[in-house]
Amino acid sequence: MLYKRAAMHILVTGAAGYIGSVIVAELINANHTVIALDNLSLGHRNAVHPDATFVATDLSDFNQVAAVFSEQKIDAVIHMAGQSLVGESMQDPGKFFRANILNGLNVLEAMRHNKVKKFVFSSTAAVYGVPTEVPLSENSQCAPINPYGASKLQFEKILPWYLHTYGIDYTILRYFNAAGATDTLGEAHLTESHLIPIILDTALGSRSELEIFGTDYDTRDGSCIRDYIHVSDLASAHLKALELIQQLENRVYNLGIGHGYSTLEVLDAARKVTGMTITATHSARRPGDPPVLVAKADRAHIDLQWTPRFTEIESIVLSAWRWKLKYPNGYVD
Ligand code: UDP
Repeated sequence: MLYKRAAMHILVTGAAGYIGSVIVAELINANHTVIALDNLSLGHRNAVHPDATFVATDLSDFNQVAAVFSEQKIDAVIHMAGQSLVGESMQDPGKFFRANILNGLNVLEAMRHNKVKKFVFSSTAAVYGVPTEVPLSENSQCAPINPYGASKLQFEKILPWYLHTYGIDYTILRYFNAAGATDTLGEAHLTESHLIPIILDTALGSRSELEIFGTDYDTRDGSCIRDYIHVSDLASAHLKALELIQQLENRVYNLGIGHGYSTLEVLDAARKVTGMTITATHSARRPGDPPVLVAKADRAHIDLQWTPRFTEIESIVLSAWRWKLKYPNGYVD
């Protein structure tokens, strides 16, 4: 397959988030023009590359979205904005269906009015639910066990109809567990619930301990297994997906490294990388957590001509640790 590169004007929603900010930087480094949208409810303005055109926009308000499309030249959209915390989705499902379906519809509607025809959608391994096979291929059964996964799957199902009716070409990228940091951009959520930042905060002493959610799963050591993929590798896959969108043979791609690490193995890696003790306690399972999520990512390797650079948990955790040491307080907005 020929790899054709042409500079585009790309609108990124959720551009001030952990993954969004890295994607924006990657697009700008590849000479694309970026219109960066975020409502800053979870993201950080300082995380957005200075060469991007930032527009504070709430996707729940169609008029705000439409205004951006009428004021900016846009060739393609990477739709990252959304709610993504599994635990929270079990407490407040409506928030997830609104953010992940209705807000996305506002973007699609603005696209069709403005004849924007390329759409890359951030989906998730949570669409699969409890795996019927390991690793998970794109054809594995989708039976989400939390509203987060259910909302993303519902939105995936809308996309073929916008292709059919309006010719909006789309690619769905199902992320496994995004992790790690670049030299300047890393993970700093306002309320942190993700494993690696919590482990590193414990190493730094800003938390007293890590709670391990569930040690009685049917896995090699009883804790959950996840496929941790470096955020830079996720970003490079988006670039490939966008640049190849009209030639791609498939619509859905898993993005993972193809092997998993248990929560206890991640903790162990972090103890080695940081040289710190890192206190951990065993806690109850977190509702909504499948025991194992590991990607079969061959399709992305072949079609997107993409290979993750980070394939070992130690190097992923090390990148996050270096960032944490440089920016112990995260982004100061
Ligand atoms: N986890 C944990 N303790 C924590 C946070 C996470 O044991 O304080 C576990 C969680 O149960 C899951 C894995 O770490 O099995 C990754 O969780 P995270 O929230 O980082 O990502 P998710 O898999 O929910 O997208």
